[in-house]
Amino acid sequence: MKCRVCRGPAVIDVRRHNANFCKQHFLRLCRDQTAKTIKQFSMLSEGERILVAVSGGKDSLAIWDILIELGYEVDGFYLGLGIGDYSDTSAEYAQRFAKERGLTLHTKDLLRDHGFDVPNGSRAAKRAPCSACGLSKRHCFDEAARLGAYDALVTGHNLDDEAAVLMGNVLHWQTEYLGRQLPVLAAQHGFPRKVKPLVRLTERDTAAYCLLRGLDYLVDECPIAAGNKHLSYKAALNDIERDSPGAKHAFYFRFLDQAADRFATAQPEDGAEVVAPVSPCTNCGAPCSNEVCAFCSLTMRATEAVPIEMGATRRRKVSP
Ligand code: SF4
Ligand SMILES: [Zn+2]
Ligand SMILES: [Zn+2]
Repeated sequence: MKCRVCRGPAVIDVRRHNANFCKQHFLRLCRDQTAKTIKQFSMLSEGERILVAVSGGKDSLAIWDILIELGYEVDGFYLGLGIGDYSDTSAEYAQRFAKERGLTLHTKDLLRDHGFDVPNGSRAAKRAPCSACGLSKRHCFDEAARLGAYDALVTGHNLDDEAAVLMGNVLHWQTEYLGRQLPVLAAQHGFPRKVKPLVRLTERDTAAYCLLRGLDYLVDECPIAAGNKHLSYKAALNDIERDSPGAKHAFYFRFLDQAADRFATAQPEDGAEVVAPVSPCTNCGAPCSNEVCAFCSLTMRATEAVPIEMGATRRRKVSP
């Protein structure tokens, strides 16, 4: 197996490119593909303040590393979700990565800063854990970017993530989500620009990138992810990709080229506007379309006082 570029011994095959690569040229491929995506979708500009959402997993550490290698100045933001050992360990990986490179990592913790964690808070608020978690992440990432005056918020979504979400949206014809499933969302109404520069790389690519670069990342998946529909969509797409290399890339990129525009003005079935009028949340100041933003409303439900004996009340207990 020889490297397509230098004809030296290859360490990895990339079937959708019908090519093999040595370590040096695979790492260069990952950087080149990321740089191409950034340029194609005008994601980032020189001198901008950039914040990357870091989970301690392979994708977020790979994109942080690649952006630094490409010459961008990028700070990280880590949100503690309170999902037992998984969260404790993921924080250690994120902190170690930043410390070893002298990078700035801002951190926030749901339990410490908002009084609830994902497992207990979602139960108290009668919301699915991933739904409460996703809302919390969106809010806290946006807030960190807004308060830190960052121009862009980067996330480590890769091709497998985007193709799986696209499959779910197509299976259910969720046209309002299809219209917003883009690798870059412009800044608007006080929300930062949101970009996904890894959409040309697969999970296998980012895992190999971390391995070959010597980046230590949390291999374990979130324990709550088991049973998540997106995992079954990923498995189905991997089956298709096995017989038809490049199918995932074609599915996602041809959607962007040929179909995404057609859904740009789609509205939710309930008639609410996708981009609602915005005023500050009366509780936290975040841009929102109601008096109180969805995250503050979740926080209130997740931490609301519950009755105990003798008519007294106490705060709902959350696990450490
Ligand atoms: S799988 Fe875990 S980290 Fe991902 S959204 Fe669900 S609870 Fe959050
Ligand atoms: Zn080579
Ligand atoms: Zn709020």
